[in-house]
Amino acid sequence: MSKKCSNCPVVIPNNSKQYKNKKYCSDRCKKAAFNRNKAKKTRIEQKKANLIQNDQFRYVIKQCRRAGTVQILHGHTLKSFTKTINLIKNREKGDVVLCHIAPVKGKTSIGLLHYKNLFYGGAYQNRKFGNNFYSGGLSIDKKLLLKKWNVDKSMSGNEILIKIEKFLAGIIDRYIAENPVLKSRKIRKIEMIIEGDPSISEDDLFGRSVKYLEDKLRELGRGNSFIKHYGEESKYLAYVNGLTRFIRYDRKRRPLLRALRKIMVMGYMALDRIEVSKTYNKYFYTEYELLIDPKYSQAMLINPRAWSEFKDLLYDAAFKVLHGYDLNVKKFRKKIMSYLTFPEKAWKQVGPEFIRYKSPWFSKTTEQLARVSTKPEVSSVDQYIRNAISGDLSLGKSQSHCN
Ligand SMILES: [Zn+2]
Repeated sequence: MSKKCSNCPVVIPNNSKQYKNKKYCSDRCKKAAFNRNKAKKTRIEQKKANLIQNDQFRYVIKQCRRAGTVQILHGHTLKSFTKTINLIKNREKGDVVLCHIAPVKGKTSIGLLHYKNLFYGGAYQNRKFGNNFYSGGLSIDKKLLLKKWNVDKSMSGNEILIKIEKFLAGIIDRYIAENPVLKSRKIRKIEMIIEGDPSISEDDLFGRSVKYLEDKLRELGRGNSFIKHYGEESKYLAYVNGLTRFIRYDRKRRPLLRALRKIMVMGYMALDRIEVSKTYNKYFYTEYELLIDPKYSQAMLINPRAWSEFKDLLYDAAFKVLHGYDLNVKKFRKKIMSYLTFPEKAWKQVGPEFIRYKSPWFSKTTEQLARVSTKPEVSSVDQYIRNAISGDLSLGKSQSHCN
């Protein structure tokens, strides 16, 4: 019988009475192992301190505050908690927010903060949808809520975090040991804002978007040299990724989700060919090339000016289906097909040249045009132009699907 050193591959010589208790071959190895453990402990302590300044945990805290309880974290294992944090972290491109399937403020229950109850959907659609509910998701019955897990408005972020840690009984510690916990990129902006106006609460600022912080900084006359410009991508990929995620774990609805995803891929190709629709995702084809049916790969809109109405149909369907709506997918596919044509070789429609009504008054850029034509009541460029001529050029209040 021989045993190896816990720090290196050397076999420990059996030449002393201490052999049984020896873990290391030498003092050098013993010291090295000690230092490594110490560094690990320090690292964990550092991560623990970072939690309160971490974007994902800030989001969790905010959600607990909104729900009034930490029991929205009911039923988590380390695995499901990690998946949920990763979903929060890997925010999809476009004007999207995390939407709850079972609503946080349901009638008799509270929607859980769990990856199986969340998806990225359009911010506008989500606001419009409110606390409605179709089916599915995960929730906890209000009768099961305990007073000791309540979160009231007066509690600070730190106090809520402590409650969360207690509620999750050890999950946070194990999460920290295995995952990086970085400080928020908002930190620097928040510090500068508080420098400019110490009366503003840090907790409040953490709950705000980066955009809000940047506006606030500008308002306070602080420089914006560090503000990074993010290229705009459409939320199309967010929806298709959402469908893909639920295909993985919603066995019952899998056929519906798959069928809709196929239609979405076809729709993307048609929209991608109309520049003004701004349907662009850098990684769309990398992710979904394999799902392209060659029969439909040359998809184009019969009437390119109907792109916005077409896109609305797709976004609304994806949003509702992710929310648990039982879509008649055959009927929907038929409707989508009625917009499409499949020439032998499709082409890209660049710029506004497919708009025939170019006249001197027409000084709007293509981008502005795209924005305006997304007004729900203005369904086509034709209508926009008619409105323009009649003097109603108000830019749309609601931009349900501008990209
Ligand atoms: Zn050794």
